[in-house]
Amino acid sequence: MPNVLLLHGGAGSDNTYTDALNRYASNTASMKSKNPLDFVVESVRLMEDDPSFNAGTGSVKRIDGSIQMDAAVMVKNSIGSVSAIERVRNPVMVAREVMLQTPHVMLTGDGAVKFARAMGFQDYDPTTERTENIWKKMVDFFNGKEVELPERYSEYYRYAKIFGFPQHKDTVGAVARIGGKFAAAVSTGGSSPMMRGRVGDSPLPGAGLYAGENGAVVATGIGEEIIRKMMCYDIYREIGTRPLGEILKEKVESFGKVLVGVIAVSEDEYASYSNSSMATGISTWP
Ligand code: ASP
Repeated sequence: MPNVLLLHGGAGSDNTYTDALNRYASNTASMKSKNPLDFVVESVRLMEDDPSFNAGTGSVKRIDGSIQMDAAVMVKNSIGSVSAIERVRNPVMVAREVMLQTPHVMLTGDGAVKFARAMGFQDYDPTTERTENIWKKMVDFFNGKEVELPERYSEYYRYAKIFGFPQHKDTVGAVARIGGKFAAAVSTGGSSPMMRGRVGDSPLPGAGLYAGENGAVVATGIGEEIIRKMMCYDIYREIGTRPLGEILKEKVESFGKVLVGVIAVSEDEYASYSNSSMATGISTWP
């Protein structure tokens, strides 16, 4: 089967990103490596460096104004993950180091930042003018309307929908099949609006990503719901039982109106599905 690198630009992202995603996929495809991990990390790094996406540079702010990011990589039997990491340029590269250099699966918060510095990742502010403005709008909303904050995070989304203040989208992810082996990577600034300390599905194996000997799966959308359904493992374990596109469609549709999307590769297929717009990019090569 040909090699495949499939990228997404987030559940809710519009198709204006398609050209950029295709370009990132084909630039990455020209790498000499035979290791699928290199392909997913490099393509996610390119998307993190693109300020249009809610990952790395351009990550959205939390309600308190801080930026905390989640990222993860996975190949068969190995996972590296960072959650609530701050002031690094490329969380996905730190996640790879967690996998390769530590006995752990996940590092979080200040421990993840300390580890990143020890690995040579410099202090970096991922704020952009766009995310600063989004945050100011959110603060105005909360101040102006005297909204009593609901207990459950998911309630925030209802308010976001009703009042139309900026929502999460444009997070990034990649799955690859290279030489018959699989890898997955994901990176996000999270689902705005969210509290400081909130961790979404993205860094959680089984929820936001999964990779094994039969394929790789990456999810995007409202993290809390994705975690509740263990979405990526739920899809992974059905790989090979019926067409991949059919599995993705059924699983995504089981979320009803909750925004969600997914990309996946298997031994002989690749597919993506989302219940709203979701930009994707792809490269295949022999
Ligand atoms: N799933 C991510 C999160 O909840 C956000 C996204 O994919 O849009 O943090």
